[in-house]
Amino acid sequence: MAERIEGRKVADEIVAAVKGGAEGLRGRTGVVPGIAVVIVGTDPASQVYVASKSRKAKECGFHSLQHELAEETDEATLLALIADLNADPAIHGILVQLPLPAHIDAGRVIQSIDPDKDVDGFHFINVGKLSTGETDSAFVPCTPAGSMILTERARGRDLSGLTAVVIGRSNIVGKPMANLLLAANATVTIAHSRTRDLAALCRTADILVAAVGRPRMVKGDWIKPGATVIDVGINRIPAPEKGDGKSRLVGDVDFEAACENAGAITPVPGGIGPMTIAMLMANTLAAACRRAGVAAPS
Ligand code: NDP
Repeated sequence: MAERIEGRKVADEIVAAVKGGAEGLRGRTGVVPGIAVVIVGTDPASQVYVASKSRKAKECGFHSLQHELAEETDEATLLALIADLNADPAIHGILVQLPLPAHIDAGRVIQSIDPDKDVDGFHFINVGKLSTGETDSAFVPCTPAGSMILTERARGRDLSGLTAVVIGRSNIVGKPMANLLLAANATVTIAHSRTRDLAALCRTADILVAAVGRPRMVKGDWIKPGATVIDVGINRIPAPEKGDGKSRLVGDVDFEAACENAGAITPVPGGIGPMTIAMLMANTLAAACRRAGVAAPS
């Protein structure tokens, strides 16, 4: 049976270290890390994510601002808010919750964030640094950064000689994850909706990352014996066993079946999800340390 990679426990350790780092920074320099979370509209899932990010920032001892803008807010108003936050010395990290309403150009908004405050790692400067191997000075997107830490817990930091398959090529998860695995010397293949014989490809993977958004798409017999499986997917499915109208979360991997073959696997929930928020806190502390001219705790 596979080892469960307990993301929640690792995330708690990271948050505790960030909290300690923030106290240390304040003690040495008087700087309190500051994060601004911006949400436009009332998407219920986004509201849950934003609330938990703000709560975790407070737990870390950060100065935390939450800007809640109405669905009909125009792009110019949002860009003006970001310009203010870029100029605010008390704010070191800016996060704009996605998706944005359709009348706003999300790309333009993300590129308007100061790259030194881009704690989501979506600005072209940070994307470029990651893809050219400048991983030390880049802000790395939080979900792949957290996925990498859990991979390293299972396999060690040097992935030389290992074969990795990443299913999904989004800018938020799939592509940055592939770049991180490449930087760690894995041999990486990115799969997507046009990939042929995905099952056979997955069976070659020592490290399999699923970032698709399709409940339990990856079957148990797609997993190479002993592989490390990182399940990024978060899918809500009906759960009639819990009562009428109830639902539950599952990943992109058929967890129970995958456990028969995998060496180690992240559960959903309790795997990558908590790591994403922890890495957002770590990125914000790093941004504050950089601004203060001191080394960020490793
Ligand atoms: P996107 O929808 O942006 O990307 C999904 C990718 O999966 C695409 O590249 C798509 O291919 C590929 N894909 C779709 N269907 C198939 C298929 N049948 N076979 C192979 N590949 C397929 O999603 P995200 O990357 O944003 O998110 C992926 C999952 O991760 C979602 O479940 C999301 O909820 C979750 N997530 C979890 C986070 C966390 O904190 N744990 C954070 C962010 C995301 P193509 O490009 O060809 O369309």
